[in-house]
Amino acid sequence: MPDEFNRTPRIAYFTMEVALRNDIPTYAGGLGVLAGDTLRSAADLQLPMVTVSLISRAGYFRQEIVDGRQVERAQFWDPAQSLRSLNAKVAVNIECRQVWVGAWMYVLPGIDGGRQPVVLLDTDLAENSAPDREITHYLYGGDDHYRLQQEIVLGIGGIKMLQALDFQVLRYHMNEGHSALLGLHLLQRFAYDSADLRPGEPPYDIPRVRALCDFTTHTPVEAGHDRFPYDLVQAELGDYIERPALRHLAGDDSLNMTLLALNLSERVNGVAKRHAEVSSRLFHGSKVNAITNGVHACTWTSEPFRKLYDEYVPGWGHEPELLGRVDCCAPDAAIWSAHTRAKQDLLALVKARTGVALNPELPVIGFARRMTAYKRPALLFADLDRLRAIADRYPLQILLAGKAHPRDRQGKQLIENLHAYMRALQGRIATAFLADYDMDLALAMVSGVDVWLNTPLRPMEASGTSGMKASFNGVPHLSVLDGWWLEGCIEGVTGWAIGNHVDNGGDAPALYQKLEDKVLPLFYENRPGWLAVMKGAISKNAAFFNSHRMMRRYASEVYIR
Ligand SMILES: *Cc1c(COP(=O)(O)O)cnc(C)c1O
Repeated sequence: MPDEFNRTPRIAYFTMEVALRNDIPTYAGGLGVLAGDTLRSAADLQLPMVTVSLISRAGYFRQEIVDGRQVERAQFWDPAQSLRSLNAKVAVNIECRQVWVGAWMYVLPGIDGGRQPVVLLDTDLAENSAPDREITHYLYGGDDHYRLQQEIVLGIGGIKMLQALDFQVLRYHMNEGHSALLGLHLLQRFAYDSADLRPGEPPYDIPRVRALCDFTTHTPVEAGHDRFPYDLVQAELGDYIERPALRHLAGDDSLNMTLLALNLSERVNGVAKRHAEVSSRLFHGSKVNAITNGVHACTWTSEPFRKLYDEYVPGWGHEPELLGRVDCCAPDAAIWSAHTRAKQDLLALVKARTGVALNPELPVIGFARRMTAYKRPALLFADLDRLRAIADRYPLQILLAGKAHPRDRQGKQLIENLHAYMRALQGRIATAFLADYDMDLALAMVSGVDVWLNTPLRPMEASGTSGMKASFNGVPHLSVLDGWWLEGCIEGVTGWAIGNHVDNGGDAPALYQKLEDKVLPLFYENRPGWLAVMKGAISKNAAFFNSHRMMRRYASEVYIR
């Protein structure tokens, strides 16, 4: 371990998934990409952090589409190709036996020489039994029992590993509740001598643990919060923590990881203003601070726009606020030509992967999400006759992508339904579904389409980030008012809203009406007006919804206070 990273006390950032690079498949979707953007900005801003995550040797999964259905394949990768194996081992107790945990180091480079250490935990060691060697293989794979073992390795193994590697930890930041067991280790570290206790008093210095931890919650969806039955917890962890204290902190009926994280954290953060309000209600009035998400500027800007920004707003990578000047400084012709190039690149990729030749002159509506019920991927297809009628007046094309979690049957059904709609539209509206949505495909799509569509069920979209990525590429967002869009939408200036603030039921007709009355006529009949919206997306939204702003806020309001 080079002591390059040991001299400065660091914020230890714990996350189940992290999108470091496209060829390191230790992420599933939005949460991991956000974690990656967090680190990319921390690297650029030279914030002293160290990240802890799992090695996920089998990745999440690689998606293939066969006869309109999702097929999942494990995505085994070789950590030795891009990471350095660390000479450190710690043991955690699972089911009364020792499970050994090793680690790999990835150093994420930033601009101006910033370097962020990332420690990825690995139980695939010769010392362990065959089943234990697989604990860190499958991201979000397996059952409750497997998940709890992963979370023991992440939280307890992670904190021990940082100690073994001689990191000095200033604070612990839990990115989502998966890592909350780290708090149990801290409770043990700060246990009172039982002789000094009054009866009924918890034998741990809880305030001291709280003073060291922060938590960011990412979803108001119940399934997003892990809960483990206490008999399972007992079997896996034994009496790691005294039972009444654990129930007091993590819930009476089952171990609720979100509640545990909440009760052991000084600062609790939501990922957008509305999400912080919703979370505060979900957590019975706890104070939830709102730090709205952002995306990493350089990572999510296509090459043609990077060149354009370098020319007209140099320094934008370090100060994305400068993008606020693009509407006045960059000529329309340069913006249109950058977009045209990004669109050509995307259409070439669509042709190569699917055989579908989209027309570069016609608008492309893009939609790519985790395929799950609350994201409503089928909303655009709710009334096929209406959609065909709109396309007869204003021809349009549709591009889709997204993975469904292997156990999300509804999500997988949605992928099948989308393929049925695509067949039904054949000959009238050109459509394509791109398999295996990942970081590279996300950048190609958010930069190469003309409109980025988002249709979540309110208030389920905690933040959403792909619409922010689109804004860096001058692609206007057309979305339900939820998550970040409640803050980012200025109607007709940065994009358009679907429906109103509250009513989920009227969204399909509202979407068709907005397309037919506003979006498509502007595209076809008023190119300067269209360019004004492209520039509005860049100047008003990319300038604000970036992870540099987000991390400057975390630094000043959460980490250093
Ligand atoms: C950005 C991104 C997401 C998250 O997008 P949302 O808008 O939050 O749905 C998911 N997957 C990949 C690969 C991404 O790049």
